[in-house]
Amino acid sequence: MKLNIKKEARRFTHFAFRLNLNKANVARDRKRNFLCDKTVTAGIIMLAITVFMLSYAAFATYDVKILVNGERVQTSTAPYIENGSTLIPLRDVFETLGAEVVWDDEDRFAAAAKDGILVQIYPDSGRFIKNGQEIELPAPPKITNDRIMVPLRALSEAFGYNVLWSGDDYTVSITDTKVLKVHFLDCGQADCAFVELPDGKCMLIDAAESSFGKTLEAYIRDKGYTHIDYVIATHPHSDHIGGMAHILESFSVGTFYMPNVPHTTKTYEKMLDALVGNECECVYISTGYDIEIEPYSIKVLSPLLEEYIRMNNYSAVTKLSYKDTQVLFSADAEATAEEEMINGGFDLTADILKAGHHGSLTSTTHRYLSAVSPKDVVISVGRDNSYGFPASAVLSQIEAIGARVHRTDLEGNITAVSDGYIYVIENE
Ligand SMILES: [Zn+2]
Ligand SMILES: [Zn+2]
Repeated sequence: MKLNIKKEARRFTHFAFRLNLNKANVARDRKRNFLCDKTVTAGIIMLAITVFMLSYAAFATYDVKILVNGERVQTSTAPYIENGSTLIPLRDVFETLGAEVVWDDEDRFAAAAKDGILVQIYPDSGRFIKNGQEIELPAPPKITNDRIMVPLRALSEAFGYNVLWSGDDYTVSITDTKVLKVHFLDCGQADCAFVELPDGKCMLIDAAESSFGKTLEAYIRDKGYTHIDYVIATHPHSDHIGGMAHILESFSVGTFYMPNVPHTTKTYEKMLDALVGNECECVYISTGYDIEIEPYSIKVLSPLLEEYIRMNNYSAVTKLSYKDTQVLFSADAEATAEEEMINGGFDLTADILKAGHHGSLTSTTHRYLSAVSPKDVVISVGRDNSYGFPASAVLSQIEAIGARVHRTDLEGNITAVSDGYIYVIENE
């Protein structure tokens, strides 16, 4: 390894001093925990390298890609997966993230420092040290090709970075910005999505039936929000706006959006009363209305017409874009509205589609699916619902285009997390 040891050691001492760490104590702790016979250590390292070299051949075909804030990092040694952990060359990745990385050749450990965080990593140890505290590692760091390879997620999270892994294309994405989280909530035979936006704001799209109001309030508070920036009531059916009155009574709201279609139900009137009490701004939305807030946008694609025969087609259909990730919320839009959107020439493409009208036959036509071309389709649907949703024909169409189906009745809450470059779908 080509290293200017003295220079590196000086730099490391400087970090330790700057971070007000007692290096001597840390070193003593380290020695207590890690010191062992040098011959044994050398033997273990040789064995580990041999095991690694043998196993590497199996991993090499995967060609793990690493993105740091969207830019691909060219690594001097190829990353590989071991025990479910991705091991990456420490210096290549963490220097790209702005950390300073040094190697202490005398005591044989690597140190990386950034923003008051100092980590020390020891080859073949199941633990690393963060600001003097020992933390378990899922896989021990390894030396290969004169590089120290470290478990990516544990080290990245130690510095507070976000790490997302896409098994589709073997890509790891590390970012130091906030992520987008779209929670499709398991709310029975109804619809409700809570969105945590990457600028710290939040948005609620529908609030399910009134019986879900308190659960939803608790969910939002649990996520740390006391104010909802954007609320969209897609259309006045009770399975979408039932819980809205409770939400409007429980939170301050920035702007409330809904299509311009009145209804005569008690649920609708209760929502209007709560709106008056909330004093939020109210906006009618239709095709062409955009909420553009860098680095994301929310575009309204429907309703396009002023009148429809069926209430569901008044649904506010919105497309949320955050850099490379798009989510299309179809509410209860049916084939009529879907056709208008296609004929309107809008860019409907989205990674994730919330299927229209709970997966019923009235929606998610083949033409619409082809235009959206989603990789993942979420269906908000109640367990053993009396409507027989989702329709098996809809499920087969989704399967036919090669998209994955996620159902709230089978999976519970479904969360899509995106850092703007890749996204993952998780179950809560
Ligand atoms: Zn409806
Ligand atoms: Zn509905």
